[in-house]
Amino acid sequence: MNRDLINHIKYTRPLIIAGPCSVESKEQFFSTVEEIQKIPQVNVIRAGIWKPRTKPGCFEGLGVEALHWVKEIKTKCCLPIIIEVANEEQLAAALEHEVDGFWIGTRTSVNPFALDSIFSAIAQHNRQIPVFIKNPLAPDLNLWIGAVLRAKKFGLENLAMIHRGFASYPVHSSLRSEPYWRLALEMRKEYPEIPMLLDPSHIAGKREYVLSLILLAKYYQFDGIIVESHINPEFALTDKEQQLNPVELGRALAKYFQGENRDQDISLLKSHRSSIDILDKRLLQVLAERFWHVDNIAIIKHRLGKTICQENRYAQISKNWQNSDEVSELKEEFLQSLLELIHSESLGRQKDKIARYLFNKRAK
Ligand code: PEP
Ligand code: MN
Repeated sequence: MNRDLINHIKYTRPLIIAGPCSVESKEQFFSTVEEIQKIPQVNVIRAGIWKPRTKPGCFEGLGVEALHWVKEIKTKCCLPIIIEVANEEQLAAALEHEVDGFWIGTRTSVNPFALDSIFSAIAQHNRQIPVFIKNPLAPDLNLWIGAVLRAKKFGLENLAMIHRGFASYPVHSSLRSEPYWRLALEMRKEYPEIPMLLDPSHIAGKREYVLSLILLAKYYQFDGIIVESHINPEFALTDKEQQLNPVELGRALAKYFQGENRDQDISLLKSHRSSIDILDKRLLQVLAERFWHVDNIAIIKHRLGKTICQENRYAQISKNWQNSDEVSELKEEFLQSLLELIHSESLGRQKDKIARYLFNKRAK
């Protein structure tokens, strides 16, 4: 157990974790760590040993073979090393090889059975072992809260959270995962005593966006970052598009540790604009889907002998809008005009639909 790491998590701000997405060979791992540990701001090394891949047939990590190198490198590297574990067997092997801490990946943090068995085994070994819990992919805070509660249930005392972005629908135009900053900040409010790090790599998905996200981690006052770095990213076996080489990592961290700067504002502007782009896309998608339903009920209304415009129904929708949680941030007149616009478009579409239906019926 490495006491330093424990102190880092609890007291060091910011905590900087860096390392390869996956350990691919002894040579790749050792040379990456050797370069990263020259960067003074890095406090902890990350290393992927078992890789949860979306589709089978891809590189899935070297498992126990790579754990031997983790143990061996500790004679040369003075930084603590954390890895991802997804089940109890992996955890047991990692503990045997003196791994200093663990993170729970996004695919595992949603799985109550895996969490219970991992957390219970950690608690039996040592409740002080640092455990970092990534958010689950679905943008539902209860899932993330559930994972934290399970860790607490087993009395784990040294917890941190990692915001790695969420799945989005439609998919984000530029980033790999949707940051949903507001959700992450809400989670921080829920557990102010648990540090939260940002994982810019898995949000970005591409090297060119990683620096911006690192600067946003500072702007949003995350307690640190966990970032992927590989000695030769172009040849990486996993996440090659998003890993920085150690030189790029050193430069990015230097910017992060600089005071307020223009780059941070440029990143912020880019980030808000890219969120606006995806929200616009979603807005249009929602409208198209809403009109699909509107079109479908036109003929049903006709068959039931109902008029197109149903005053009661309109009044009900208007009330639903006024009572919904989201409206507190929208102006009343704006909402009213928007509803009228949508409603009149709906009536027009239904009229057309019924006219076409009657025409076709007559023609038959
Ligand atoms: C990783 O950190 O390499 C990883 C697989 O992360 P995530 O669980 O966030 O996808
Ligand atoms: Mn990765």
